[in-house]
Amino acid sequence: MSESSVSGVRGMSVAAAFAGMRSVAPVVFKAGCPDCRGSFELTAGALRLAIGATSRSTFYSFTCPDCGAAVRKPAGERIVELLTGGGVRTLRLHTP
Ligand SMILES: [Zn+2]
Repeated sequence: MSESSVSGVRGMSVAAAFAGMRSVAPVVFKAGCPDCRGSFELTAGALRLAIGATSRSTFYSFTCPDCGAAVRKPAGERIVELLTGGGVRTLRLHTP
């Protein structure tokens, strides 16, 4: 990587430069398994977010890499923001 290769992005902030390259940034989410009590880091592709009509029916799910259990956890507003911002697949359960 030489400096001349980035001469086309003059004045652009790092955040702006990466805004359109979401898949390049390796975002990981820390998660824990209630079954085997394992704790691990998951990439956005390993997580699923389901948004229901209320916060009670909004949750995220993943498969435990240690024991294979299907884990489902409630997702609050901040978690939803974090996951969607990290590129996690989102499923909307309610229809308007
Ligand atoms: Zn587990």
